[in-house]
Amino acid sequence: MNITFLGGTGTVTGSKFLISVDEGKTQFLVDCGMFQGYKWLRERNWEAPLFDYRHLKGIVLTHAHLDHSGYIPRLYQQGYRGPVYCHHATRDLCSILLPDAGHIQEEDARFYQRHKLGKHAHPVPLYNGDTAERCLELFQPVAFDEKIRIGSATLHIQPAGHILGAGSVILEADGKRVGFSGDVGRPHDLIMHSPRPLPALDLLLLESTYGDRRHPQIDHAQQLAEVVNNTLGRGGVLLIPSFAVGRAQTLQFLLLNLMREQRIPKVPIFLDSPMAIDASEIYARYPDQHRLSAANCTFMCSGIRYTRSVDQSKALENIQYPHIIIAGSGMASGGRILHHMKRLLPDHRTTVLFAGYQAGGTRGARLLAGSRNVKIHGEYIPCKAQIEMLEGLSAHADYVELGEWLLQSALEAGTQIQLVHGEPDAADCQRLYLQDNTPFQVRVAGYRDILRL
Ligand SMILES: [Zn+2]
Repeated sequence: MNITFLGGTGTVTGSKFLISVDEGKTQFLVDCGMFQGYKWLRERNWEAPLFDYRHLKGIVLTHAHLDHSGYIPRLYQQGYRGPVYCHHATRDLCSILLPDAGHIQEEDARFYQRHKLGKHAHPVPLYNGDTAERCLELFQPVAFDEKIRIGSATLHIQPAGHILGAGSVILEADGKRVGFSGDVGRPHDLIMHSPRPLPALDLLLLESTYGDRRHPQIDHAQQLAEVVNNTLGRGGVLLIPSFAVGRAQTLQFLLLNLMREQRIPKVPIFLDSPMAIDASEIYARYPDQHRLSAANCTFMCSGIRYTRSVDQSKALENIQYPHIIIAGSGMASGGRILHHMKRLLPDHRTTVLFAGYQAGGTRGARLLAGSRNVKIHGEYIPCKAQIEMLEGLSAHADYVELGEWLLQSALEAGTQIQLVHGEPDAADCQRLYLQDNTPFQVRVAGYRDILRL
């Protein structure tokens, strides 16, 4: 068996592993992610793939996030028509995430053309929304533990927490068993179940996103209650920029629980993001796949006001009483949150509460660093609002939690682990930690490495 590392090495994006078994007769991909972030990484999306899609017999996805699925429409555009296997919920989430990614790229290309930016006279998107919509016909969803056959290889997906539908892929071929951890969730996540421990393996590809950081042990409900009460006490509006899948559902659940326990006043909560509304409905479709019971899902959906249309979103500016708005995007780099920020940042009664990692260069990172002036839609907006950060809601296990997960597994001493899905410092710190605290042989995988097993 050969494994070629085509992404998710030295970075948390572009996860893509080419597997070749049965002396090259069977080739397939585990994950098919898009590179994101730095320009030199994003440019890899445009390079000719290091494999011939005509030889691919299938793609297996660990979960729906674009850094694991976002390259599928590009392969479809080039002619790939083989199956894409994933959990049912991953298919449902991809059906909102992939077309949205296509639309954003179309908009970006139009923006570059209008402003004559970039080196191309006619910038084109990596793929458009229509292609992303059409590639969904390739998806062949499966349940957890259901057998997937690709040529002479057998695979299955087992739950890994993280987000709805997320799993680790277990591959058996050429007399070997290989595990792909995917993104691994936390043991005590508010919404997702704990990741299932792994079976015995000959090789594990393990994520290392939080390889050099521990999650703070914070009571997030208490912190959220304080922020809500302070804001409403000033008569202000609480704005929460949020990612649509996972984070928005956790926030709705936390806020409604605080209201039920009478720790915060009952004020209207608006979910102003069509994508987060769709994602919430998908979570409600799979009540046995997370910790929210069917009753809790109904409670969540009934307690929140969904503003799907642009008109409903605009109407929020006429509300005179205190309220809470959850809107995308999570780092305030685009989306409806910007319209609300433009209007409410100059008001000292407002609080903007960030609820996730803020990448360098985004408005979120700037505001958290204390910037009192942010540019939105070409206009400088003075910021008099309170800026807060809700810690501890990460959907990734940190390196200590990953170590504990490995020790609960059936992995034998000496099992080979290749670290992927981490920035260089994170992956190296995690290597050192696992080497000192577990009996496994740990290495950090490199881009384009080929591992022979
Ligand atoms: Zn993920």
